[in-house]
Amino acid sequence: MPGYIPQVDIAAMKASSDAGFAHIKANLDEKRAYSKEAKLCCDRCKKQENSSTALQACGRCRSVRYCSRECQVAHYKATHKTDCANFSRPPLCRAFNTTVCLTGCSYPETGVFGLGTKDGMGAWVSVTEIIDCRLATLPGGGKNEHDPNVVFAMTPGLPGFNGKFLTLKILVQNRSKTAKPMVVIGSGIVAVASKQGTPIIQEGKEPGETSQILNHYPDLGPVLALAKVGAVLTYFNGKALASKQPKSCPAIKDATACAVLLNVGEYAQFEVEFRAGGPNVTHDFQALELLSHTVIPCIPYDPKAKGPFVELLAQAANRDEVCEIRPLIYQPAVDAWYKDYKTKGQFAYIASHHGEARANLLGHGLNAIGEMVKAIASEGMINPTLMRQFVKPSANRA
Ligand SMILES: [Zn+2]
Ligand SMILES: [Zn+2]
Repeated sequence: MPGYIPQVDIAAMKASSDAGFAHIKANLDEKRAYSKEAKLCCDRCKKQENSSTALQACGRCRSVRYCSRECQVAHYKATHKTDCANFSRPPLCRAFNTTVCLTGCSYPETGVFGLGTKDGMGAWVSVTEIIDCRLATLPGGGKNEHDPNVVFAMTPGLPGFNGKFLTLKILVQNRSKTAKPMVVIGSGIVAVASKQGTPIIQEGKEPGETSQILNHYPDLGPVLALAKVGAVLTYFNGKALASKQPKSCPAIKDATACAVLLNVGEYAQFEVEFRAGGPNVTHDFQALELLSHTVIPCIPYDPKAKGPFVELLAQAANRDEVCEIRPLIYQPAVDAWYKDYKTKGQFAYIASHHGEARANLLGHGLNAIGEMVKAIASEGMINPTLMRQFVKPSANRA
């Protein structure tokens, strides 16, 4: 068909797109209003921060703030002493918000699926999700491999690599009582499948994959350590590390190992990507359901020690000095977080976690693609099986 142009209803697409943009704007306005509204207040007396009162955070956990020394001491004695030591709240940061819900949402922005503590170090485990909960289909998630904060190491993009990927978002903080500086080895973070999960995750195994069976968990039996694709330091003390103009964060002691120094009170947010899909594992909650725990290795910081941190980690292991934080993946938290998706569908999940505006936007986007595909298909230019995947997408169905 020379000169063939598929007939697309331009007016319908434009209307859909305009509605979509209106939703984006509404969503942005809502976020702006939220950040204005979310004024900090004293965790004891609830006095709001203003030009004359600057609130001071607890230096160890940075999860609470006070207007005065008096409030800090009283609160410490009453409840905070235990809460601080138990890591009962993560440090306050916008990028790992586990408590406040945006307007119209019934869930906070970050779901926590695991918390582990060891010798004054603590880690919270979440996921970096795609809005519709599907696993990523390309390794790297679009991150720049020349970024000095990124380690792309373990399974490089093999030709024809066709896996699916789960990105765990892991926040690690040093709350050591002895003020010991520690180094977290981001590239050493491991995700271990459960006994039941191991055979299912193995079904999706790719050629050249570096996943391996572990035999050192007598309670679990032989279980799979998932193949890692890469590790990135995304936030340090709550501040985003810009990947557009890569500049190494001074806390990174060895970029190849993604080794990050944490003094007391400091916290680092990593994203670690694993190959986790398979014929029966297409969504992030399905992958999470197959996991048992994660392991986050940390070693004491010795400014005199020389050499790559992978070797320093091995030496520390020989001296029995590795602090391994092991958050279990707490399955009831996974169930609670994804309940709407599983019982009411994708639209309900997006609405309760990201707001109606985002849910509607996604609906409009799918409708526009659907219209286009229908138009092309009607001219016999597209495989009908492929067409079924796009046409009539039901926003209410998973
Ligand atoms: Zn106060
Ligand atoms: Zn504290």
